[in-house]
Amino acid sequence: MGEAERGESAPRARISFWCSNGHETQPSFAHDAQVPETWDCPRCGFPAGQDQDSPPAPPRTEPYKTHLAYVRERRSDADGEAILAEALAKLRGEI
Ligand SMILES: [Zn+2]
Repeated sequence: MGEAERGESAPRARISFWCSNGHETQPSFAHDAQVPETWDCPRCGFPAGQDQDSPPAPPRTEPYKTHLAYVRERRSDADGEAILAEALAKLRGEI
């Protein structure tokens, strides 16, 4: 049990934070430091809060994902065929 106190000069307190993915992180703060309301989860980057039952909502990243999906969609059939045709042409030495 005594391992938590191995000769740190300033008293520090470990505060638990939980993100919405259920990750717990325990940064330690100097005794007189101001503990922030949220802490970035080191595992997934989501904001984590001190209340395990109601962690902060994750940042909205949907526009980015939607854009990616949109790009993937556009690269579907027509592009795929064009790329395949070009690859075949290269194989045949036509380019
Ligand atoms: Zn997390």
